Amino acid sequence: MSDAENLIRQARAKGVELVRFYFCDGSGILRGKVSSLKTLPERLVSGIGVVKGSMAQNLLDQLQTDTGLGAVGEVRLVPDTNSFTALPYTQASAAMFCRMEELSGQAWSHCSRSFLERQVEEAGKMGFSVKAAFEPEFIVGELKDGEFRHIDRGLCFSSESMDMADGFITEVVRLMALQGLELEQYYPELGPGQHELSIAPASPLSACDRYLLLKETVKACAAGRGLYATFTPKRSVEEAGNGCHLHLSLYDENGRVNQFFHGEAGKEGGAEQSGLSKTAMHFIAGVHSHLKGLVALTCPSVNSYKRLRPHSWSSAFTAWGYENREAAIRVPSVYRGRESDSTNIEIKCVDSTANPYLALGAILACGLDGIKRLALPPAPVEVDPADLDDAGQKFHGVEPLPRSLNEALTELEADLFLMNTLGKELANTYIIVKTSEAAAFEDDPAFSDAVHRARY
Ligand code: GLU
Ligand code: MG
Repeated sequence: MSDAENLIRQARAKGVELVRFYFCDGSGILRGKVSSLKTLPERLVSGIGVVKGSMAQNLLDQLQTDTGLGAVGEVRLVPDTNSFTALPYTQASAAMFCRMEELSGQAWSHCSRSFLERQVEEAGKMGFSVKAAFEPEFIVGELKDGEFRHIDRGLCFSSESMDMADGFITEVVRLMALQGLELEQYYPELGPGQHELSIAPASPLSACDRYLLLKETVKACAAGRGLYATFTPKRSVEEAGNGCHLHLSLYDENGRVNQFFHGEAGKEGGAEQSGLSKTAMHFIAGVHSHLKGLVALTCPSVNSYKRLRPHSWSSAFTAWGYENREAAIRVPSVYRGRESDSTNIEIKCVDSTANPYLALGAILACGLDGIKRLALPPAPVEVDPADLDDAGQKFHGVEPLPRSLNEALTELEADLFLMNTLGKELANTYIIVKTSEAAAFEDDPAFSDAVHRARY
C-alpha cells in the first residue's frame, strides 16, 4: 500500500474529513491551509500553494513589503506525513506540519522547519542525535465582560489548585494522549491560574510539532469549557510570567548514549549532582556566548521583555549554573538510577511567542559551534546573578540580557554567527517583521498587552 493510501485509510478510520497543512510564522503563530480527503493524495506530493508574503506578516497581519515578499510569488506547503495527527478537539480535522518549498522543490530560505532540519543534519555530521522538550507554562481563567477570573486561586504546587483545575487538566491530558502526547509531569505553577504541562523528549522536529499541538490542545480545551488559556509571556505585571523552557541533550547517532553525561557525577561538571561531559561543557559555552542575540529568536515579542526580569525565575542575565533557576542556562540535577538519561540542559530564556523551530535550531547551532571551537564556559553561577557585584559578574561572564525587543534585534544583527546561520534572506525578513512589531506596540502598552493576550 502506498503512503498516501495508508494515510487516507488512517484518516478514514479516525473519522477525519479535513487535513490542515500547518506552518509556523516568525511570531510562532500556527497558520495553514486545509485539504479535503479527496484531494489529499495529490496534495501529499505537490503540496498546497501559499503566498510568499505569508512569512512577512507581523502579529497584526500587517504585510512588511520591505522584506521583498508580498503579493507576488508562491511557495508550497509540503507535509511531513509522519506528523499526521487527528485533532480530537475538532469536528473532523487532522493536521500535518509542513516544509515550505520553492516551486522547484527546494527548501525555501524562509522555511523554519527546514532551518531546524539543517541544524539537525549538522549535528548528525558531527555524530550526534538530539533530544528536546519544551515545557510551557500558561494561565487559565474565565473571561467574562472584560473581567478575568482565574481557574484557581491556590498556592504553587497546591492540592487546592489541582482540585480547582482538575476537570480542565484531566480533559487536556486525555486529549493529549489521543494525539500521542505523553505527559511527563503536571503541576500548578506560581500564582492564580498558572499551570505547567510537560511532555516527553523527542527528536527536534517532533518536539516542536508536539509542543505546538500541546498548546493548541490547551487553548481548544479551554475554549470548549468557556474558559480562556494564555501562553503570553507576561499576562500582567502582577502575575508570574509564562516561560517555555527548552530542555535538550545530545546523544550518539543511534540515540542510545547520552553524550552530555560524563559517566560519573562530579567529574567534569564540578558539581556533585551532575556528571556533565566535556561535550556538554562546550555546548553550554557555545550557547552562553550567543545568549544576547539568541533571545531575539527565543523571546521574540514586545511582551517577552516584561517577563525577562531579575528575581522572577525567568532569567535576566547571561548566566549558567547547576539547579540555578535565575540562570539562562540551568543544569538540572540528575535522577538517581536514571543518571545518564536524565542529564540535560535547560534554556530558560525561551517563551511561547517563539517559533519553536527557529528557537531550537538557533540554540542547537550555537551549542554545536561551541563543540567545534572546544569553547569553555565561565565559572557556573551559584547565587542569583543579580546579587553578584561587578567583579563577580565579570568573573562569571554575567551580563544583562536585552531589555526590549529592539535591543535584542540589535544584538542579533551584531551576532554574525547567528546571522550567517539564519541566512541572509531569513534574517533580513525576520528583523524587518519584528522591528515593525516593536514599532506598532512601542507607544501603546495597553494595546500591546491586549494583542499579545489575544494571540497567545
Ligand atoms: N515562570 C517562570 C518563567 O517565567 C519559571 C518558573 C520555573 O522555574 O518553573 O520562566
Ligand atoms: Mg515552571
